[in-house]
Amino acid sequence: MPAKVISPIEVYKYLPKTNCKECGEPNCMAFAVKLVNREIELNKCTPLLKEEYKEAYRKLWEMLKPPVKEVEIGVGDKRVKIGGKYVIHRHELTYNNPTAIAIDISDDMSEEEILRRIKKVQEFRFTYIGTTLKLDMLALRSVSNDKARFKEMVTFVANNTDLPLILCSFNPTIMEAGLRVVGDRKPLIYAATKENWREFLEFASIYKCPLAVFAPNDLKMLGSLTKTLIENGVSDLVLDPGTVPKGGLANTLNAFTMLRWRAINEGDEALGFPLMGTPITAWMVMDGDPSLKAWWEACIANMLILRFADLLIMHSLDGWSLLPTMILRQNIYNDPRKPVSVTPGLRVFGNPDEYSPVFMTTNFALTFYTVKSDIEAGKVDCYLLVVNSEGIAVECAVAGRKITPESIAEELLKSEVDKKVKHRILVIPGKAARLAGAIEDATKLTWKVVVGPMDSSEIPKFVANEWKRIVQSAQ
Ligand code: SF4
Repeated sequence: MPAKVISPIEVYKYLPKTNCKECGEPNCMAFAVKLVNREIELNKCTPLLKEEYKEAYRKLWEMLKPPVKEVEIGVGDKRVKIGGKYVIHRHELTYNNPTAIAIDISDDMSEEEILRRIKKVQEFRFTYIGTTLKLDMLALRSVSNDKARFKEMVTFVANNTDLPLILCSFNPTIMEAGLRVVGDRKPLIYAATKENWREFLEFASIYKCPLAVFAPNDLKMLGSLTKTLIENGVSDLVLDPGTVPKGGLANTLNAFTMLRWRAINEGDEALGFPLMGTPITAWMVMDGDPSLKAWWEACIANMLILRFADLLIMHSLDGWSLLPTMILRQNIYNDPRKPVSVTPGLRVFGNPDEYSPVFMTTNFALTFYTVKSDIEAGKVDCYLLVVNSEGIAVECAVAGRKITPESIAEELLKSEVDKKVKHRILVIPGKAARLAGAIEDATKLTWKVVVGPMDSSEIPKFVANEWKRIVQSAQ
């Protein structure tokens, strides 16, 4: 169980209790319940910001702050927030701040190669269930160990992108050269170690940048370094316990698990910081086929996301190796309490005319986007009626009465699609076949219902082979 379990009553005690509704909630108790569920922010209660409630605000903030601190990297719209975690398991409470993915650029690359990588990171887009998946940041690595070369590379990157940055070097002289160029962009300084922590502590204090702490395979040292840094006034920290791709992966995963466990379940404040992993190490320790390195890097990234990593540094820019990681991240960082859904209503595809088909589906996002993609891929001109099933797929929605003949008829009439088509034929999914007759009854027999394909991939074939005959026979 998490160390801190807070009840709405405890929170309510410190609220103004005026039920003024300025927070958008009907009363203070409703606001307290949302606060405890982390569904609303404390400063939405504007009366709390007044001087007279200063102490109550402080107490609430202390009470509600996450055991894993939220850390910001970068400035402006593109800045990335990592950490801010309240729970170990996703089913306990929605995870927030998805794992950030940084792609590396090293100072032994040519300008042409650097530009190519920046462009790829900036333009990487993939639409998945209505959400656009993107990469987040760049990790600038010194491999030359030459401060002039590192500075030159950092300057070149900074002039060509406003993405948030991680500066990577254990050498204080090199780190300082990079910070002189982009210190005002609040990069993550990677990384303080037992050898260099004094200089890196100073950099984090002077430039007010977040600082990564690196102690491979040594959690005791990691905790000791963070304690020292906190005592010296640096508290925006990110922990790297080391990522060992071969022969030590079990230890890596155990280290991530223990760190998160101790932060959340044991309230160890010295370890209550975001965790970062470096799947890129697969490229450094393996020989041979680059595809195998990219594959192994993706495997490690996926394992680390499942083991609470808040930030990953990766090298591969191939879609086939990045997408599994990004899709896993998306699937984990959504709200398990709410099925992913889209707004019900009528959608138009292509250029439908008065004799184009009217299909029906439910508002479960995965179903909707699959149907949409099949219709678009088949270049079908049609209407699609999306019925509210509370985000449940067709088969389960029918079985669980999340869609009924009456709700379908109501959505159909509300859509006014009868003003757009001359026929009165609704094509329902094969998986809702048993509702056909009852839907016709619910429309008072003003609409005929035809059972369409079991799978939306068959829609183009259905339209090409059967739709004309169905319309003609109905006239
Ligand atoms: S704004 Fe604050 S005082 Fe007003 S109802 Fe909401 S929680 Fe209560």
